[in-house]
Order: sequence, then C-alpha cells, then structure tokens
Amino acid sequence: MVYTVINIFQIAGVLTGFLTLLSIAKKKASETQKVLLIACCCAFVSILAYTLEINARSLEAMVMAVKFGYVGKCYVLLFFLMFMAYYCNIDIPKLVFRSFLVFNTVMLLIIITCDRHKLYYKSIRLSYEGLFPHVELEKGVCYWMLMAVMLGLMAWYVILCLIEVKKRKGIEKKRLLLLSFSGLIPGYMLTVYLTGIMNILDPVPLGIVLSCMLLTLNVNKYGLLDTMELAREKIIENTKDGLVILDASYNLLYANDVARELFPDINQAESREKQIKEIFKENPREAVVDIEGRSYEIRVSRIEDDNNADTVRGYLAWIFDMTFVNHYTEEMIRLRQEAEKANLAKTSFLAHMSHEIRTPMNAIIGFSDLCLNNGDEGEIKEYVQSIRESAGTLMVLINEVLDISKIESGKIALTDVAYSMKELMKEVISAIIPQINAKHLTFRYLLEKDVPVMLKGDKKEIRHIMSNLLSNAVKYTAEGTILFKVKEIERKDRKTLLEIIVKDTGIGIKEENREQIFDRFERFDVKKNYAVEGTGLGLSIVKDLVQLMDGSIEVESVYGEGSLFRARIWQEVLDERKGEAYRGSNCDDIKYTLEQLKNAVYGNRGKRKRRSIRFPGAKVLVVDDNQVNLKVASGLLKLYGIDAELAESGEECLNAVKKQTYDIIFMDQMMPGMDGVETLSRLREIKKGNKSTPVIALTANALVGVKEEMLEEGFDDFLGKPMDLTELENVLIRFLKELQEEMPEAGREETGFAAETAGRYESLIRKGIDVQAGIELCGGEESYLEVLKAFVTNAPVQQRSLSQSLKLGDYRRYTVSAHALKSAAASIGALKLSEISRMHEEAGNKENIAYINEDFVNLIEEYGEIVKAIEMREA
Ligand code: ADP
Repeated sequence: MVYTVINIFQIAGVLTGFLTLLSIAKKKASETQKVLLIACCCAFVSILAYTLEINARSLEAMVMAVKFGYVGKCYVLLFFLMFMAYYCNIDIPKLVFRSFLVFNTVMLLIIITCDRHKLYYKSIRLSYEGLFPHVELEKGVCYWMLMAVMLGLMAWYVILCLIEVKKRKGIEKKRLLLLSFSGLIPGYMLTVYLTGIMNILDPVPLGIVLSCMLLTLNVNKYGLLDTMELAREKIIENTKDGLVILDASYNLLYANDVARELFPDINQAESREKQIKEIFKENPREAVVDIEGRSYEIRVSRIEDDNNADTVRGYLAWIFDMTFVNHYTEEMIRLRQEAEKANLAKTSFLAHMSHEIRTPMNAIIGFSDLCLNNGDEGEIKEYVQSIRESAGTLMVLINEVLDISKIESGKIALTDVAYSMKELMKEVISAIIPQINAKHLTFRYLLEKDVPVMLKGDKKEIRHIMSNLLSNAVKYTAEGTILFKVKEIERKDRKTLLEIIVKDTGIGIKEENREQIFDRFERFDVKKNYAVEGTGLGLSIVKDLVQLMDGSIEVESVYGEGSLFRARIWQEVLDERKGEAYRGSNCDDIKYTLEQLKNAVYGNRGKRKRRSIRFPGAKVLVVDDNQVNLKVASGLLKLYGIDAELAESGEECLNAVKKQTYDIIFMDQMMPGMDGVETLSRLREIKKGNKSTPVIALTANALVGVKEEMLEEGFDDFLGKPMDLTELENVLIRFLKELQEEMPEAGREETGFAAETAGRYESLIRKGIDVQAGIELCGGEESYLEVLKAFVTNAPVQQRSLSQSLKLGDYRRYTVSAHALKSAAASIGALKLSEISRMHEEAGNKENIAYINEDFVNLIEEYGEIVKAIEMREA
C-alpha cells in the first residue's frame, strides 16, 4: 500500500518535473532561461531515475537506475546556482563553476563505474526488507565527498537567495523567496537522508519534486522569466550601436558584433587590453571618433550597484553611429541658412524693387506735372520723351519679374525657329551699340567661321541671353573694351554646342561673389554701383535659359580688371555649311562713329574762317617718314604760297639742313630709326645755318600734355596731325611774320563740296571715306588727289612694314607704322582706318600683343579696301 502511494507520488513528480520543463521551454530562451532549463532537466532526470529504481525488480536494473539518477543529481545544484547568479547579477567567477563542473563530472564517472571499485559504494546488494525491494548501498569515500559538495552548493544557493530577498522589494522579493524554498526543500531532504533516519526511502527526489512545483508556480504566477530580460538581451544583440561591457576590473564581459567590427582589436587577446584602454580612457566620457569615414560617438558610463552607488560593478560603452545624425543636422543648418538667405534676398529685392519702381515713377509724375503746367511745345516734347524713357525702364523691370515668375512656375517653353547667327548677332549689336558708344567704349565682335550658317533654336531667348550679358558688360565697364564672340565648341548628331563669350574690362567680380551672381536677387558692390540700375535678376534668368538649352554658364573675373562670361548652348544645325567669319568693331557703326570721330579728329574745321595771307619765298622743310603725310603738309603749305621741301627721315633732314638754311622746319616726332627728338638735337649741334631755325613738332598724339612735352624736348611749337589750318596759319604767322603778305579778299579760295565733286569720288564715299573732310585737310582737291596717289603708292611699303615688324616682334616699329597710318588715313578722310590704326598704336604702346595679333587681319583688310576704293576711282 505505502509502496503504491510512493510510486504514484513518484510518477506525479515525474509529470510535475516534465510540466516545469515545458513551462520553461515554451518561453523564448534567454541566457538565464537556458541555464534554468538545464537545471530542471537535471532535476527531471533524477526524479525519473528514482521512479525507475523503485519499480525495478532486479539488482542490475536498480543499479542502472541509480547511475542514471546521478546524471541529473551531479549537475542539478550547480546549474541552479548558476541560474541564481545570472538572475541576481551576482558575480561568481567562471573558474569556480568550471571547477565544480569538473569535480562533479569526475564523480559521475566514478559512479558509473561503481560496481568495479569501492570508491563510491563499498558494497551493493539487493534487499527485500522494508516496504519494497531495494538496493542496499554501503557508502564509500567519494559518496561523502559528493554529498558534502552538494550540501555546500545548496547552502550557498540558499544564502545567496536570502541575501537577495532582503535587498529586493515587491514581486522580485516573492520570486526570490520561492526560489530559496526551491533550494531549501531538497537540501533539507538530503540532510535528513544523510543522517540515516530514512534508510529505505530517499526523500531527496521528493524534495526535488516539491522544488519543481515551486518553480512552476514562480514561472507562471510570478513571471520569473519575464520577457523584459529577453527583450533586453535582444535589444543589446540587435542594436545598430556598439556595446562593450567590462567588469569592475576592466575585464571584457561582453562586446556585441557592432563593437567587435568597429574595434577589431577587441577580438584578439593580445591587443584587447590596449583597445579597451583606448575606449574607456576617461570615465565617464563622451567623445567623437572617425572610423572609415563615419563618425561615432562613444559614451562611457559606470555600472553602479542599485543599492550602493559607490560600488562600481562594471563599465559600459555605447558606441553610436552619428554619421546620419550629423549629416542630417548639417543639412538642417544649411537649409535654415538658405531659407534665411532667401528671405533676406527677397527682402532686399523688395527694397530694391521699390527703389527701382519709385525712380521712374517719380520721373513720370514729375514730368507729367511739368507738361500740365507748361505750355511750350518744345519743352513738353522733351518731358514726354523723359516720361517715355521712364516707362521703358519700368517695362524692363516688369518683364524681368515676369520672366522670373514664368521660369519659376515652369511655364517658359522654348520655341524653336530657323535663324542665322550672323543676323542675330547683327540685331543684338545694333541694339547695344548706342549704349557702348555713349560710354566711349571700344567694342569688338567676332562670329567664327565654323559656326553653321543656319541654326534652329529659340532665337528670342538667345537674343535675351546675349543682350543681357552685353548690357551687364556695358553697365559695369567705365572704360576699355568689350568683346563679343560666338564660336563652335563641339558638333554631334546635327547639333552644335555654341559658346557665347562676353568679355569686358570693367569692375570685375570678387571671387567670393562669383557663384552667387547667378542667384536671384543677388547684386554686389551695390554701394560702388549705386548709379547702375539693376534688379539682380538678369543673370539668374540667363542661367535658367541656358540650362533650358542643355547648356551652362560660367564666369572668370579679376576684380578690378574685368570679367568674362561664357555661356554654352546646344542648337540644332539646319545647314551644315560653314558661314563666313563676321567680325568688326564699333568703328563699323559708320554713321555714329564717323560723326564722333570727325569731331574728334577735325574739330570745327568746317566753320573756320581762313585769312587770305601768303608767305612767298619762305624756305620750309617738312620731315615725315610717311609720304602721304608729306603730301598733305605740302598741299596745305601750298595754300599759303609755300613750296615746301620734303624729307622722309631724320637723316635726310640732317643732310638737307647742311645744304640750306630754312625759315621753318616741320618735323614728325615719331619716325622709325632716328625719331624727331633725336633729329632735332643733332640739328641743333650743327654749327652753321639752321641752329636757330624754328622747328615745329608734328604729332598725331592728341593727348593732353604732349605739347608741353614737345616744348621741353626743345621744339619751338607743336602741331597735331592732321594739321588744323587755323593752327598752321597761326604758327606760320608767329614764325614767318616778316615774310607775310596780305592777299586781296577776291583772291580768297574757299573749299566747297558740291554734288558734282562728290560724284567724282563715289567709290570712296561708298567705302565711308569722308572726301569733303579730306579735301579740306589737304588744302584743296588738287592736293587731295596727290595725297590719295601717295596713299596708294605708299600702301605696299606701309603694309609690309606693319606685317614684318609684327612678324619680327618689333613692336616699337609696329607702333610707329600704326601711328603714321593713323594720320595718313585721317588725312584722306578714311576715319575708320584711322581709328583702327589708333587702336593698334595704343595696343603697341601698351604691348598688348594679343590684341594686335587678333585684330591685325581687321586692320589689313580695311587698309586693303580703302586702297581698292581709291584705285577704283583712279581707274
Ligand atoms: P543686375 O540687374 O544687378 O545687373 P544681374 O543678375 O544681371 O543683375 O547681375 C547680378 C550682379 O552680378 C550684378 O549686380 C553685378 O554685381 C554682377 N555682375 C554682372 N555682370 C557683371 C559684369 N560684367 N561685371 C561686373 N559685375 C557684374
């Protein structure tokens, strides 16, 4: 009967043990759970074995069950202790566990082989006495050793539990209390058994059954294996941040995969210590380190005891990848700055716009008032003109703002049409020329011959781009040159990449502003350019348009020296044929510039009143390297009854003065070889004759201060070339007073310019030569014809001299030749050629070789065309 009860109890115990196993196993396993599971397995094995033992009927079966039971018994306590240590975060050195593990395993081996020796059991026999047949075992030395260790472990476990029970509160306290009972009961049973009170029945398995029941209760009712623990472990394992945990003595307890990857030295025993020192060098610490282009923040903190903050249990380092956060923060700061900048730009734009609008509006209102209050028709016309101009300015402003809003809303679409780049350039140039001329700037343009004749694209918007760049160049340039050039860069699939270059010698753009000038509402040097009208929208529109044409725009600039804008656009090619190069300068804008030049070169000559005087018998020498100039001078002198002698160089002059004493000498200041100044000083050295002859400098340099310079050099006076008759007359009167004779009024010969005369010079006039001025300059038609002849005869020599000196790099000679051509051309009325020569002379003086090389063809072409026009007349 008792046996049956015991047996039923045993079987119930096996089931309980099994249930305990199930309830633990069904929870997701954390490290702690795994340990508990192993402990419970061991308990289960020992109960199962004891059940088998009491149900066995033979000695062998019983011994076998006993041995099987020890497989569980040897380890159960050890694993419970381990679980306890994990659960309560108690630091039990691994070595202690390992030693017990080894000891118990050795014991298990001894037990398994117990029938071969007497170490564990001195004797083993079957007994039929008592409640049921059982095996009688006489305990050997190892038995007592194992039992002592088991009791020790149990005591340790219970003590640890009780200590923790004391510390904790609430549900934790209850859990630990149950845990300590789970240890106490089997411990108590074992002690009873060892005392020998219960000889036949081993109560320990019963104790284990009870402890399993308590554990099941603990797990299910008090949530012993709370998922939080598991969650914590998962978080640590799966976090993208690195985690390193050290014990209080700086030994590595744990490092997750991220940390190991970031600090691979942790994985190597020899480098670990150094790496740990590096990470934990300050405590606490917040530091940023860069690893392979990413930035990480290391936060080191201490793990303190919950109950005693002074007790450090270890150290923890979190390593956060801050790359994204940093990048995100930087981006946010940048966006904020940009938003602030845009806001500022808009505010300044509004302020600017209101100023821009107010200026023309003020003018419109003011002039309207004047119109209303003034009855004079002429004045009213002027006022209305001003109103018209102001309205135009307003219109530009409104159009720009409209353009911007169209572009911003994506409403601008390109309308492609067939067009010729040459014609387009002509249109753009003729629109901008008045502004350029008004500022007395030099303007040169060039369409390279590679550009195809017919293109397809949005002509209107290209004109917009060109006009904008050009008008900026004019606005921001006070003096110098503006260059406008279009060339082909690349040709691909019937498309051409064109480059529009606008270069100026204006104020330039500071390096730090170069990027922003293409931004909306951006204007620079506003104080400096106060008088320059603008909205800061032009270049931003140009950039948008260029980008719509798959192109780009860039700027090169030297602050204070000038800027170069380079816009590139793709255009469709309609006619592959190359066009002719189209080049020129603002001297080509014939009507306007000729008028201007004429005034500059000839002054008010047309209105002069010449006195009818003659200087018969006067001995006059004219020295000039240029035949044309000589002819002009001799023609003019003839008007005063003077038959001048001519010398073509300084040497010729010196020879002449040795033979003859002159009343006056006119000497060109700039001559190749011996120039005017040198000739003069040599002349003065010659003792006899001409020592005191007045020498008048002739120069085509109309610069201020030249006269003073000439007088300082020892000349007696100075005359500009082409000679002004009034000035010439004054010089003659001043130096040849004694020879002067007054002519009767009737004999006075005024040079007129009848339609009939014009007819004789048709080819010249067609070429833009101001024949009337030329005739006047040369002192009459007869001498003009001679000068023309000399001009043509002299041309090959002159052209050769120019090209040779250029080839040889003799820029002094080149400058002298250009200088001579300047006055020779002016003398015949070829003002454009004169102006081109002037620019070459200027470039020569400044050694602007690039300009000379680039424009040389232009000079020679114009020279050739003039000669041709004269020859045509002669033929
Ligand atoms: P704005 O109407 O003010 O001329 P833009 O957008 O055309 O506006 O030009 C923006 C700014 O770029 C100008 O205010 C000026 O400071 C600078 N800029 C443009 N073109 C030139 C140039 N050719 N030389 C010097 N500065 C220039």
